[in-house]
Amino acid sequence: MTYLITGAGRGIGLEFTRQLLEDKKNVIAWLRDPEKSPELKKLKEKFSNQLQIQKVDITSHDSIAQAAKSVTTLDVLINNAGVLLDKDYTFHKLPKKVLQDTFDVNVYAPIEVTQNLLPALQKSSSPVLVNVSSKMGSIDDNSGGAYYAYRISKTAVNMFTKSFSVDHPNIKALCVHPGWVQTDMGGAGAAITKEQSVAGLLKVIAEHQKYKSGSFVEYSGKELPW
Ligand code: NDP
Repeated sequence: MTYLITGAGRGIGLEFTRQLLEDKKNVIAWLRDPEKSPELKKLKEKFSNQLQIQKVDITSHDSIAQAAKSVTTLDVLINNAGVLLDKDYTFHKLPKKVLQDTFDVNVYAPIEVTQNLLPALQKSSSPVLVNVSSKMGSIDDNSGGAYYAYRISKTAVNMFTKSFSVDHPNIKALCVHPGWVQTDMGGAGAAITKEQSVAGLLKVIAEHQKYKSGSFVEYSGKELPW
């Protein structure tokens, strides 16, 4: 089984890579600057045959297209890379640039990555698309307000996943919420560790038959409201 993970140099993406390699899976790790991830380098030393590292700028069409050419067959694509840029902005001060930069990474990138890897996914006998979303993108669950750029971007990812699932019935598509996780984004005070989050998400992916394509599922396996 071959998995491709974006944002594989740190946080949840690095932990996905680590747990999958330990489980004897093949991983193609996409990240924008491999030099900045000594942890990934160490994994390469330990799992040299299973891990392929590719330097890819997922906000660049050409970079994605070039890297995707070398991916022939892919079983699971995990669009994980993401940014939360509007922590410090109230609604009336939120600049358009922050909205645009958030959408570049959280929305346009996973769509373009998926478009370019679609031929490789279609060669798998059981392909799965996993878009790492967030409960903050749930309209039903939003009682806290704020975080306009981040929330809207994750709501868009959910709709991307749902439409993709309708148009591609042979590919299982899921949007997943990793929980509130102790990473640079989640902060040290977050509720769960990367290890717990990723172990749960990998169980969801392994048991993907249980879920209707296009579903929104959290790391515990529970389905979430839109
Ligand atoms: P981190 O901030 O720890 O890591 C973010 C990852 O995204 C890094 O690998 C980073 O790469 C990558 N990334 C950011 N910008 C770019 C870019 N322009 N091009 C390529 N890669 C980029 O976040 P997490 O690991 O916590 O988050 C992973 C996913 O989980 C995200 O989609 C996030 O929205 C989601 N999530 C996280 C939650 C949490 O509590 N942590 C809760 C809900 C959802 P680089 O090292 O190069 O910057």
